[in-house]
Amino acid sequence: MSEAGGTRVQSYIGDPVSEAPVVDRDTLEEIFQDIQGDLRYDHELNGCLNCGICTATCPAAHYYDFSPREIVQLLWTENLEGIYDAMQEKIWACAQCYTCAARCPFGNSPGGLIMIMRETAIKHGMQSAKDVLRPFSRVMLKLISTGNQLSPDMINPEHFPDWGPDICKVDAPLKLLRQAIPMPTLNTTATAWEVNLKTSVELYTIWEMTGVLDQLESIDQNLFDVIIDIMDEKREDLDDWLEEQEDGDGDE
Ligand code: SF4
Ligand code: SF4
Repeated sequence: MSEAGGTRVQSYIGDPVSEAPVVDRDTLEEIFQDIQGDLRYDHELNGCLNCGICTATCPAAHYYDFSPREIVQLLWTENLEGIYDAMQEKIWACAQCYTCAARCPFGNSPGGLIMIMRETAIKHGMQSAKDVLRPFSRVMLKLISTGNQLSPDMINPEHFPDWGPDICKVDAPLKLLRQAIPMPTLNTTATAWEVNLKTSVELYTIWEMTGVLDQLESIDQNLFDVIIDIMDEKREDLDDWLEEQEDGDGDE
């Protein structure tokens, strides 16, 4: 503990009777600086009346021990311990519907702030991020390896056997509904998951250069390794294809 201008400043956060490791103040500050340093932060937090309109309209607040007002107050008052604590569970309850952003009289976006906190939790490899994202590893694999994971016929026992027998119940209606969407290339896995080699390699370059893969490595090393293998293979395939094209041109 240290004293600063008569105010007690907590050096560590942690439950004194818990075996969970305490978190030092430097880490708390680093996490907050990462949140505050995000380009979106100043647009999404302009002050807070503590009026609770965001929580009153928040669907997640109806079902979970979660309040966007509380999260915004933690950020606005720079309550580092509370911010860290909220990142262990509460921030993952948000449905990202942005009803709060449409209602806040201050023009805040609690949902947007929560998104920044989630990304920071991933960047810091927090256990809460690992736990929340683990069930989505197959979705992330498809998304990163093809650039698209949604197609109506993907929800079937063949593609997702571990989703259980009830998966059949949602299969047919979704297919029917998606036929109303005028995007023929996204209608089936055969088209949505078949991506041109050059496009795939361009996507991988974007994932790399924007730090998405670094984030993935910090939360799921196995998935990261699988995706790196897929990327290497596709890059080699593209190089081979380009060489073939050049050889073909030379033969003419
Ligand atoms: S974020 Fe906006 S709506 Fe929510 S408590 Fe603060 S001022 Fe009110
Ligand atoms: S974006 Fe999140 S915090 Fe905002 S209303 Fe929707 S669920 Fe609630």
